[in-house]
Amino acid sequence: MSGKLGYIVKATLDALAVAARNFAKPERITVFYPYEKLEYGRMRGWIGLWTEKCTSCMLCARICPTNAIKMYMEPNGKRYPGIDYGRCIMCHFCIDVCPTDALYPTDIKELAWYDYKEMIYTPDMEREPPKIHSPYKAVKVAIKYVGGLPRKVRVQ
Ligand code: SF4
Ligand code: SF4
Repeated sequence: MSGKLGYIVKATLDALAVAARNFAKPERITVFYPYEKLEYGRMRGWIGLWTEKCTSCMLCARICPTNAIKMYMEPNGKRYPGIDYGRCIMCHFCIDVCPTDALYPTDIKELAWYDYKEMIYTPDMEREPPKIHSPYKAVKVAIKYVGGLPRKVRVQ
C-alpha cells in the first residue's frame, strides 16, 4: 500500500513540476483556428496534375510509399494518375520523381471530406484545385522565438 501511495505522490509531484515548468517557460502556443491560421514557411499540400504533360510512365504510382496512386485509363488510350487522399501522406515523392513536371505541388492544406469515397481523386479531379470554403475571416499568425521563448505574432 505504501508503494502505491509513494507512486501517487511521485506522479502528482511530476505533474506539478511539468505545470510549473510550462508556466515559467511555456513551450506551447494555442492558435485559435479557424479565427487564426498558422503560416508555415513551406507546406506540402494538395497535388495538381497537368494531363497534357503526363507521359503515362507510371513512375509516380511506383514510387508512392502508400500505394495512393491509381492509373486511370482515359478515352484517348493513355493512363493518368489519380490520388487517394485517404492514403496519401503528402510526401510529394510523386512530384519529385515525375520527369515532365506533370504533377505539381500546392499549399492547399485545409481539406476535409464527408465520405471516404470523396477522398479518391480521378485525373479529372486532379486537374482542378479544390475550392476552400472559408466562413471566417482569419488572421494569419506565425510562431517566432524571442529570447528563447515562443511568441505568436501576426503576419501581414
Ligand atoms: S504525395 Fe506521397 S503518398 Fe501522396 S500520392 Fe504522392 S507519393 Fe503517394
Ligand atoms: S504524372 Fe509524371 S510520373 Fe506520373 S505517369 Fe505522368 S509523367 Fe509519369
